[in-house]
Amino acid sequence: MKIACDLVDDGIRTEQEAVLMIEPRNLDTLLHPQFDRNELKKIQPIGKGLGASPGAACGKIVFTADDAVQWAANGEKVVLVRLETSPEDITGMKSAEGILTVRGGMTSHAAVVARGMGECCVSGCGDIIMDEENKKFTLAGKEFHEGDYISIDGTTGNIYDGIIPTVDATISGEFERVMSWADKYRRLKVCTNADTPTDAKKAYELGAEGIGLCRTEHMFFDPDRISAIRAMICADTQEQRQAALSILEPMQQGDFEELYEAMQGRSVNIRFLDPPLHEFVPTEEEDIAELAKTQGKTVEEIKNIIASLHEFNPMLGHRGCRLAVTYPEIARMQTAAVIKAAISVNKKHPDWNIVPEIMIPLVGEIKELAFVKNIVKQTADSIIAENNSNLSYKVGTMIEIPRAALTADQIAKEAEFFSFGTNDLTQMTFGFSRDDAGKFLKSYYDNKIYEYDPFAKLDQIGVGKLIEMATKLGKQTRPDIILGICGEHGGDPSSVEFCHKVGLTYVSCSPFRVPIARLAAAQAAIKENMQGN
Ligand code: PEP
Ligand code: MG
Repeated sequence: MKIACDLVDDGIRTEQEAVLMIEPRNLDTLLHPQFDRNELKKIQPIGKGLGASPGAACGKIVFTADDAVQWAANGEKVVLVRLETSPEDITGMKSAEGILTVRGGMTSHAAVVARGMGECCVSGCGDIIMDEENKKFTLAGKEFHEGDYISIDGTTGNIYDGIIPTVDATISGEFERVMSWADKYRRLKVCTNADTPTDAKKAYELGAEGIGLCRTEHMFFDPDRISAIRAMICADTQEQRQAALSILEPMQQGDFEELYEAMQGRSVNIRFLDPPLHEFVPTEEEDIAELAKTQGKTVEEIKNIIASLHEFNPMLGHRGCRLAVTYPEIARMQTAAVIKAAISVNKKHPDWNIVPEIMIPLVGEIKELAFVKNIVKQTADSIIAENNSNLSYKVGTMIEIPRAALTADQIAKEAEFFSFGTNDLTQMTFGFSRDDAGKFLKSYYDNKIYEYDPFAKLDQIGVGKLIEMATKLGKQTRPDIILGICGEHGGDPSSVEFCHKVGLTYVSCSPFRVPIARLAAAQAAIKENMQGN
């Protein structure tokens, strides 16, 4: 960056040429801690997983999220090692320096959440023989126990035995300068995937122009919410479900108000509840017993409910908009929370003029979108009228099921925006699970069947064709349709270039990838311009 700035100052390069000199991916090294290079030279890795979230981490091994929280509270630096993570682990993941998992690809829970938090993660190291129960694992013939030191590199995926000192990230003045040039030349808007005010503020600082995806399920795991969501899941009647949702509504409203505040009037796209409900139910015997007690049910009854909800990988059952079709009251609650939050924040900041964006996930058929949209509209319009407000809002959908892409001309009749959910779209187009494709992809690379992980870098030939097709079909029906991408590819440079070429409006990616996307978007625009001339 320094060289690029000097060359511009000396009149040897133009700003555009300087922007093209920098490899977007290298920005990771400015934004995340790295291992001390001299120390790294002295040590060989003992294993390798996927470099799922960049940066370097070194700490004592812990095996549970609770231990991560406790050990960190006692001033220890820890690396959380799990078979795989689930939403229940979020607090522990936050407390750890880094996360290492045995299973999971580039869009697995651990990878996506770690990237969102800007925390180092190595996922899918299948060589680890895990014994979670006895808090130990074996790798490269050595047994590791709780408290042993380990170092992991989330950029390369390398795993090292012992301590390697890390060097903190530092951003220089040249960074801002190069970024301001990038912003001048790019056409794509760059948004962020963020579900907490902390992530949203970080993304804002790194130049995000809005939130392109707020995964609302991540808001339900705080201790004060999880009991209400569990009560909703265990409800026998609609009234009971409604009562539980009424507890959640003000909390959700508060969440959304904080996001609107954090983004200071920039767009915020809120995706309605998506995962299967089994993700919210307890797994430990004592928690199941506690839930039975609070719900006035027997342990047996609770266990039956849990068993009936359980979905198997790749979890394509009762999730996404299907939840809203079976339980419309969930969509009603989330709509009320979004609309009330926007009205309240607009009152405080009339100049912001927030226009909420409500995104319905996993749509594959126009009638299911119409059904959910109808619930959203009825709820939103009556709240807007009650408040004498003139708030406007948008309802759109994710395009993440191939059928939605194929019928995008119809879907666009109901959707004011499309956001390509390329994590699920890749999973369903290839027909392999985003959570465990890592198990066999290596053989595909070795045999030159695939050159790269399609969950990390967009498959432009297949998945890309669906995106191009849906873009054309969507525009045919609704010429002013807003088109974006919010799958993990939204922060991958070559995928960003593809999004520019097909004419999307925005890309949305995790906060720390925002500068990468800004630079990649500028490079795509500059290259196109140069070719045109
Ligand atoms: C997607 O599928 O691309 C997406 C952004 O949604 P999620 O990762 O939450 O399934
Ligand atoms: Mg999805």
